[in-house]
Amino acid sequence: MIIDLRSDTVTKPTQEMLEFMMSAKVGDDVFREDPTVNELEQRLANMFGKSKALFFPSGTMANQVALKLHTNPGDQVICDKYAHIYNYESGGASFNSGVSCRLINGDRGMFNADQVLDVINPDAYYYSKTSLVEIENTTNKGGGACWDFNEIKKINQVCADRNLGFHLDGARLWNALIAKNETTLKYGGVFDTISVCLSKGLGCPIGSVLVGGELIMQQAIRLRKIFGGNMRQAGYLAAAGLFALDHNMDRLAEDHKRAKEIGDELSKQSIIKNVDSIETNIVIFELNNDVNESTFIKKLADKNIYIIGMGGGKLRMVTHLDYTDIMHERLIGELRFL
Ligand SMILES: *Cc1c(COP(=O)(O)O)cnc(C)c1O
Repeated sequence: MIIDLRSDTVTKPTQEMLEFMMSAKVGDDVFREDPTVNELEQRLANMFGKSKALFFPSGTMANQVALKLHTNPGDQVICDKYAHIYNYESGGASFNSGVSCRLINGDRGMFNADQVLDVINPDAYYYSKTSLVEIENTTNKGGGACWDFNEIKKINQVCADRNLGFHLDGARLWNALIAKNETTLKYGGVFDTISVCLSKGLGCPIGSVLVGGELIMQQAIRLRKIFGGNMRQAGYLAAAGLFALDHNMDRLAEDHKRAKEIGDELSKQSIIKNVDSIETNIVIFELNNDVNESTFIKKLADKNIYIIGMGGGKLRMVTHLDYTDIMHERLIGELRFL
């Protein structure tokens, strides 16, 4: 038995999902004639109370298009030092949009409205123009932490006052919604654009979606084409998204429960220095200084348990759809003998 906790992206489609995908009605989506893609996009737009949604092959591309939508070359984007757009998108912000990132030194990937106000550049020609605030919910490098929605509202107000765009990288927004009992409509009401992943907690093989208002999304479809993200009979993939929205959303609570149990067990072990508090499906922990990180990872790998290092002495485990009760029992047992 292989226990793969490196990411919630390692899931494979179930037989039921595959059958649903294979029976999808499809057409050429470049002509906007794929009924299943259209259905998925309409459904997500409605969920967020936005006029348009657009299906993307990856979350990275959805975020990169969003950055381009909100900025001009030379502009500055405000985000946390842990932001995925800054750390894990291959420098795409500067490559694709010619923007720099103004990093906020937040807490677990989150910050407050005052910190945003502090880093907005003054309106003088020799400054870079601040044009976008970007946040992530849940935060990936921040260990699956969830934002306080009241703080998001305050930042939204700053963006409105200062004429800044507001983008949400919601790759794991589903986890936040389940953990905090929040709604998509609430989020749609405060962000200009939101990207969500179908291939993380929801267990699809591929797919992300960007939602936004009518005008901005007209430009988004052009940019998606420029970025090479146009697809043809993509309905087979969009069908997985429709299936996942119906079947795999509520069960995210199980992932969260198991992650907490893993965290509890880890924190009892003497070789572990610290376990970040667990709100969703990500467990981030640190080893005591005298324990070698790669030896530790290797020792687990020898037992067919896979986890990853996040750099800076942090290790990560992520629970997901394919992590079963039996695996969980076995893992907890193994953790007792670290
Ligand atoms: C996974 C992830 C993305 C997108 O990743 P892709 O692998 O390109 O789909 C974006 N933001 C965050 C926070 C993520 O965790």
